[in-house]
Amino acid sequence: MSDKGLTLMLQGTPISPGLAQGIIHVQHSLLGPIDAPVDIQQNNVEEEFSRLDVATSRISDDLFVLATRVEKEIDSRLAEVFGAHQLMLNDSSLREELRKEIVDNLVNASSAVKTVFLRWEKRFLLMESQIARDKGDDMRDISIRLRSALAGITVHPLDEIPDDCVLAVSRLLPSDTVFLTGRPISAALLEYGSTGSHAALFARQMGLPCISGFVDILTGMPHGAVALVDADAGIVTIRPREKQNVIFKKKVADKEHEYRLARSRALDSAVTKDGVTISVLANVGCSADTEKAMSNGAEGVGLYRLEQAYLGRVVPPNSDELLDEMRQTLDAARGCPVYVRLLDIGSDKPLPFIGFLAETNPSLGRRGIRFLREYPGLLKTQLRAVLELAGEFDVHVLVPMVTLPDDVSVVKECLAQLCLERQISPPTRLGAMIETPAAALAAQEIVKHVDFLSFGSNDLTQYAFAADRENAAVEHYYKDASDVIFRLLKLTHDDVPDVPLSLCGELAGRPEHIPRLLQCGIRTFSIAAPLIPVIKETIRNSWCSAPLKRKQ
Ligand code: PEP
Ligand code: MG
Repeated sequence: MSDKGLTLMLQGTPISPGLAQGIIHVQHSLLGPIDAPVDIQQNNVEEEFSRLDVATSRISDDLFVLATRVEKEIDSRLAEVFGAHQLMLNDSSLREELRKEIVDNLVNASSAVKTVFLRWEKRFLLMESQIARDKGDDMRDISIRLRSALAGITVHPLDEIPDDCVLAVSRLLPSDTVFLTGRPISAALLEYGSTGSHAALFARQMGLPCISGFVDILTGMPHGAVALVDADAGIVTIRPREKQNVIFKKKVADKEHEYRLARSRALDSAVTKDGVTISVLANVGCSADTEKAMSNGAEGVGLYRLEQAYLGRVVPPNSDELLDEMRQTLDAARGCPVYVRLLDIGSDKPLPFIGFLAETNPSLGRRGIRFLREYPGLLKTQLRAVLELAGEFDVHVLVPMVTLPDDVSVVKECLAQLCLERQISPPTRLGAMIETPAAALAAQEIVKHVDFLSFGSNDLTQYAFAADRENAAVEHYYKDASDVIFRLLKLTHDDVPDVPLSLCGELAGRPEHIPRLLQCGIRTFSIAAPLIPVIKETIRNSWCSAPLKRKQ
C-alpha cells in the first residue's frame, strides 16, 4: 500500500459480504490516551487505594453493561469476553499486587496499574498456549480502560469516528464492536480477522461489509481517501477513477435489485432447480435474532446457542429459569422446528459459578459435551427444560463438540432416563454436531445414537487445519471453504447417505458455496438472519444433483 495520490486496487479476504463506499478513516489506537505516572507521598497512599477502588468498580460496572448490551444486540460469544475481563479485574491476587505496588514504590494508582498489568501481560505472553497469550491482550485492554478511568477519560475513540466512513483498523476487538453497533459506518477494512473470528461473526450479524488481510493497514491505508469496498470479492479500490465509480454504482444498483427480489420471495420455500426442497433456518442467541430471522423468511431455528442463558449468572439457572429463557428467545418461531444446542462452553470461557479450569490447551480440552459429561447435573437441567419446552415447541437437541460415539450415547441415555421418569416417549430428535474430523470420520458409529447430523464448519475448520479460529497469526491456515472441508462433508454423506445433514457454520451463509454444499448432501442450512433471503434465492438457482446426472 502507498499514498501517492494514484488509484489503488487492493485484494484482501472477504469476511462479511456487501458493497459500500466512503472516506477511509484510519483508526490508529482504539483505546484512549493515558495519564503520565506520578510519584506520591506516604500520606497519599490511602487516597490512591480509594481512587483505584472507585475506578475498578466503575470499569467492572461498565463491563457488565457492555456484556449485557452485546449479549442482547450482537452475540453471546462476544459477551463472554467481557465476563472474563470482569473476572480478571476482580482477581484478588491482582488487586493485592496493585496495592503493594502503590505502598512499596510510592506511585499513584495509574502508575501501579501500568507496571503491574504489564508484568501480568508479559507472564501471559510468555506462555505457550494461545488462550494464555490472548489473556495478555486482555490484560492490556483492561489496563488501558482502568488508567483511562483513573484519568477521567470516558469517551471511546470509536464513538468519535465520522459517520459513513470506511473504517481501517488493525483488528476489531469484541469491546470495539460494541461501539460500532448502531453506528452508520459503511464498511470495515482489517489487517487481521479470519472468516470464523468474532470480528467476522459480528460484521455478518450487523450486515457490515468487511475485508481483512491488509498488511500494515495503519501505515499503508491512505486516511481521507475515497474507497469503493467490494466485500463480496474482497477488493477495495482507493481513489477510484470515474469509470470505476460508474461500474461500481451499477454493481450496487444490480445488487440492490437482486436483494429486493430475494426479499420479496423470502417467505417462499427454497426449491432447487431439480425440485428438492431445502430448509433454511436461522442461527440465534436472543429473541431479537429469532424475530428478525422469521421476518426474513427463516423456516425455524437451526442453531440456538444456549450459552447466553448461563453467562453473567452467579449460580446456574434451574430448569424453570432455563425454560423461561428458551421460551422467550424462541417465541417468534413457535410452530416451526427449533434446534437447541446444549451448552457449548469450555475452560477458555469460564462460568462464574464453576471456577477456572486451568488447561494448557483449552480448545483441545473440556469443551461442549466433554464439559457436560463432567458436570452431568448441567446436562440434566438442560434436557429437563427441553422436555418441558417440547409441550409447546417442535424442539430438537444438538450435542456440541462431539468426537466419540459415546459423547452422544450418554446424552441419549440421559434423555431416555428422564423420559422414563415422566413416562413419556422421547418427543425430541437428537443430533450430533460434526465439528471435529474424528466425528466426521466416525459418522457411521455416531448415527447409531442420533437422528441427524449438523456440521459446525467454524470448529471443523479449526480442528482440521489445527488453526485457532481467533488467532490472527495462523489465519492463513484457517480455510473453511477449502477442498479439505468439502471432502469431509462429502465423505460423511457417502458414509451415511440416508441421514439428514445440515450445516450451521458460517460457510452456510456464503452463496458462492451453496451449489457445492448441496452436492455434498446438505439439505438444511442454518445461517445469520440478514443472509436468509439471498441464500434462499441462491438455492432456487442451484442444483442438488451433480452436473453429469442432470436431465437439463
Ligand atoms: C461451528 O463451530 O461451526 C458452530 C456453528 O458453532 P460455534 O460457532 O458456536 O462454535
Ligand atoms: Mg462450534
